[in-house]
Amino acid sequence: MNQTRIVCTIGPATEDRESLLRLHAAGMSVARLNGSHNDLDWHAATIARIQELLPNVPILLDIPGRKIRTGQLEHEPEFANGGVIILTTDQTHDGSEKVPVGHPTLHEQLHVGATILADDGTLRFTVQKIDGPDIHCRAEVAGVLKSRKGINVPKVKLVSEMVTDRDRVMVQFAKDNGVDFVGVSFVESAEQIEAIRALAGGASPRIVSKVENQGGLDNLQEIVNATDALMIDRGDLSAETNYEMTALFQKEILIAARETGVPVIVATEMLHTMVENPFPTKAEISDITNSVIDGGSATMLSGETAVGANPIKAVEVMHQVSAAAEAHVQAGLDAIDPPTPLKATQAMERAVALLCRSLPITKIVAVTLSGYAARMISSHRPSQPILAVSNDPSAVRSFNLYAGVEGVHIDIEFSKTSADHIVACLEELWRRGKLEDNDMIVVVSVSYPKSGNRMNFLQTHTVADLVDTLSWTK
Ligand code: ATP
Ligand code: MG
Ligand code: MG
Repeated sequence: MNQTRIVCTIGPATEDRESLLRLHAAGMSVARLNGSHNDLDWHAATIARIQELLPNVPILLDIPGRKIRTGQLEHEPEFANGGVIILTTDQTHDGSEKVPVGHPTLHEQLHVGATILADDGTLRFTVQKIDGPDIHCRAEVAGVLKSRKGINVPKVKLVSEMVTDRDRVMVQFAKDNGVDFVGVSFVESAEQIEAIRALAGGASPRIVSKVENQGGLDNLQEIVNATDALMIDRGDLSAETNYEMTALFQKEILIAARETGVPVIVATEMLHTMVENPFPTKAEISDITNSVIDGGSATMLSGETAVGANPIKAVEVMHQVSAAAEAHVQAGLDAIDPPTPLKATQAMERAVALLCRSLPITKIVAVTLSGYAARMISSHRPSQPILAVSNDPSAVRSFNLYAGVEGVHIDIEFSKTSADHIVACLEELWRRGKLEDNDMIVVVSVSYPKSGNRMNFLQTHTVADLVDTLSWTK
């Protein structure tokens, strides 16, 4: 299995049992559902199907958040370059005459001459006249404006409330259905993340913050510190800022996340031409390669797997290209180590990385309640697989987002006053065949935990010696 995770958006092209199994066999490690498309019955049924078929695959549900979209249309208008189209904030329309957009005051915030982008910035309009709720636009490219497509107006303020009623419904739905991560659109502050976390009411569902506009970039550090994971949605990001900056912003976000080990999903159009074609472009190959080299934990497929003609092939291509990039990273690992001077935890991480490079280590075991140790070790991309053990099943599933990590659930109490549970976890891993006699392992954990003291336990063992010394028997 590759280290770099592959997030696949599930949609009409892949919702059936056979496709889900084939996506997984081809390398899918996280299943994503976009809550802006389809209805809750469809989502509930699809979630249940994934959980039944692929119990270790974490599920990410994107909630609609503050993204502005076109409504559900009866008629999806087609237009020529120079053609006229009327957008409206009056929700009674169905697209035949006017296209409703889900932002109540959009018409008040626009002026004649403003640019409106749609569908990940692929459609472009200029405002010509504003008449009550109606926004008359000239199309700058030919195309079709479809249902539930994103609308970007770079300088317009988003819907004012931080959490919408729809978000409340969706977070509750995510909780009720055992979803592991919720993706939150247009995150611009730690406060916004905390508001969603309060709705979640606990550690799960974990939060994937989508950085996709200038506000998100401006407050990147506080977002990194507050979130469980990040997603770079380059579709909205390029439409909201300047498209020539997209790749540079991607690098900036990856660098900001590196020090905290927060996993980053690189998203949008990674294999876009494969929605129709059975092969990728060189630019797409290059994009995946660079995302891996720059430290992305996961790459994502959107339309490619949700509605595309070649969903399985797209995952295979992504897997193959990531594997080649990973081999390149392994040859020059130092590039992704953090700068000096080091904090205590960074010194521990470096010690682990050094051990992994200097000894014939075959596996790394992180015994971790929250996943902190696994996340930090993973961020250095050691070549050895990482087994991350916790007694919390939902935490364990979420570890499968970290590059190179396999989450393992062991139902055992974690002691605060002894390290006995650590050795008990090793014994159980050995019983399950996850550790074998000829393995040489690095074990990391926290022992005698106190707040502020995170990863302080580091050992190396030959498993055969443990079996012998501790008289393990199967
Ligand atoms: P986001 O900004 O969250 O990425 P998006 O509209 O770009 O929103 P994606 O999740 O990137 O949506 O998916 C790409 C496209 O695939 C969507 O625009 C939609 O046309 C289609 N799609 C995705 N999920 C579904 C679904 N569950 N049912 C039908 N179509 C879907
Ligand atoms: Mg987006
Ligand atoms: Mg998208």
